[in-house]
Amino acid sequence: MAKRVFNFNPGPAILPLEVLQIIKEEIPDYRGTGMSVFEISHRSTDYEEINNSAMALMRKIMGLGENYKVLFVGGGASLQFAMLPMNFLGEGRTAAYVDTGSWSNKAIKEAKLFGNVVVAASSKEANYRFIPKFSEFKYSSDVSYLHITSNNTIFGTQYQEIPDTGKVPLVCDMSSDILSRRRDFGKFSLIYAGAQKNLGPAGVTVVIIRDDLLEKCRSGLPTMLSYQTHAKELSLYNTPPVFAVYVVRLVLQWIEKQGGLEAVEKTNRAKKDQIYGLMDKHPEFFKGTVNADSRSWMNITLRLPSEELEKKFLAEAKAAGFIGLKGHRSVGGIRVSLYNALTLEGATKLAEFMEGFRKAN
Ligand code: PMP
Repeated sequence: MAKRVFNFNPGPAILPLEVLQIIKEEIPDYRGTGMSVFEISHRSTDYEEINNSAMALMRKIMGLGENYKVLFVGGGASLQFAMLPMNFLGEGRTAAYVDTGSWSNKAIKEAKLFGNVVVAASSKEANYRFIPKFSEFKYSSDVSYLHITSNNTIFGTQYQEIPDTGKVPLVCDMSSDILSRRRDFGKFSLIYAGAQKNLGPAGVTVVIIRDDLLEKCRSGLPTMLSYQTHAKELSLYNTPPVFAVYVVRLVLQWIEKQGGLEAVEKTNRAKKDQIYGLMDKHPEFFKGTVNADSRSWMNITLRLPSEELEKKFLAEAKAAGFIGLKGHRSVGGIRVSLYNALTLEGATKLAEFMEGFRKAN
């Protein structure tokens, strides 16, 4: 048996052990081909099967119809910050963005290169400790789209409800909470997510786009930067990141096998309740940094009474096999990332460790 730690890394992050074991099995000889997935043509029927079934499974798990195209693109979620406005903005056009932290800001910065940006709402003044209420968003109904970041990996906030934007296309950076709970995915015109938290290894970004928005892509873009290219070519315009897509397919099968998003949500709810439950019992020791109604299920951010105690906590946690709990360098403190592959046992054991640390200190 491999020695595994409790992995709370914020991303790249933990993958299901079951998936890692399948990969290990299949590397020398992928299903009787005598080759690994990295060694076969992306135009082969074997890869085509991986590609098509990953797309179909993604739609099935999200409850989406054929009017949504699933694309596998390189360049990370950061390329999507630029590709999105490149495809849908242009001179005289405006997009609305909700500013809920560092990643929203990076998205806004890129959008400004291609058109006008209005910030529909922001929690910056409050150190990003909450998700602004939809009823307070300010944007006009003729914007090209409204962009939100469903989960804020660094600040530890998450939308509990998805806004209903009517005719205005809703676009979402779902990098750090995709497939972690049930959502009405049909509310979105476009969703993008880097794979390296809930879906697989870094190297592929999943883009899910509805046909009515896809039709509106600007023409005259570099071929690789147009969503229409990837949609038309079923993500096989050029050599795709085959290994990453292969692992995404295995992760989707793992989700499906558990019972889909209902089952995943149930486990994730129990996991976050372990940690927030303890924080609520001892708020003087475990100081949450966000408002209760905006708490992320994926990244729990907190401070201890002093920086010395935080250092001590991180060192003792590491020695006890709990890895990756240091807060982002821009905010400090502790961050507990509870992505899908982290088990309920992992969250429970960490809560026990935290309580032991509190009592000893
Ligand atoms: N958006 C969010 C919410 C993220 O957490 C991250 C990465 N941590 C990114 C975007 C950037 O992703 P990438 O590194 O794939 O460009």
